[in-house]
Amino acid sequence: GLKIGVLAVQGAFIEHKRMLESLGCECVELRRKSDICDLDGLVLPGGESTVQGKLLRELDMFDELKERIANGLPVLATCAGLILLASHISNDDNVYFGTLPVTVKRNAYGRQLGSFEATARFDNSFDFTMTFIRAPYVEAIDDSAKNDVHVLAEYDGKIVGVQYKNQIGLAFHPELDDDTRIHERFLEMISAN
Ligand code: GLN
Repeated sequence: GLKIGVLAVQGAFIEHKRMLESLGCECVELRRKSDICDLDGLVLPGGESTVQGKLLRELDMFDELKERIANGLPVLATCAGLILLASHISNDDNVYFGTLPVTVKRNAYGRQLGSFEATARFDNSFDFTMTFIRAPYVEAIDDSAKNDVHVLAEYDGKIVGVQYKNQIGLAFHPELDDDTRIHERFLEMISAN
């Protein structure tokens, strides 16, 4: 099976781990720099991007992970993870890894719609029930990467899933339901590499 590192400093990492294990993966919880071993893929889970960004620095994992992502390590990033990857955050002064050439807006659905489910088409191939929790969306794709960022999903006129080379960024939480098809897609992407 594939060996997947799951960032485990904060947020919804257990659910990703369970889902990937159910698909035959070996998962390594990344809590400190020395946990970052030979990996076939990486998951950046949902949670709180500001907290995760701070912990990544404090635990000295930031540079190592950024370099691996930039060098092509396949990444599945959900919600706060998407924020960590984005090159720009329209309503926040921070940039974290900045390896995914898109602008995201944090907490983009406002208070009333803090949390909701919606069904939308995923990568033109199946309908997927998406759980959004204080979610971001993708406001824009960087001009420099217009041809290389592939939109995977849109909901209500907003981009909620993208792929750029080795990076998949999703505004929603595919790990919280029983549907494993997006995780399977991620594993196929790794195997195809
Ligand atoms: N609102 C969180 C943030 O800005 C993301 C929420 C989530 O990951 N479910 O980081």
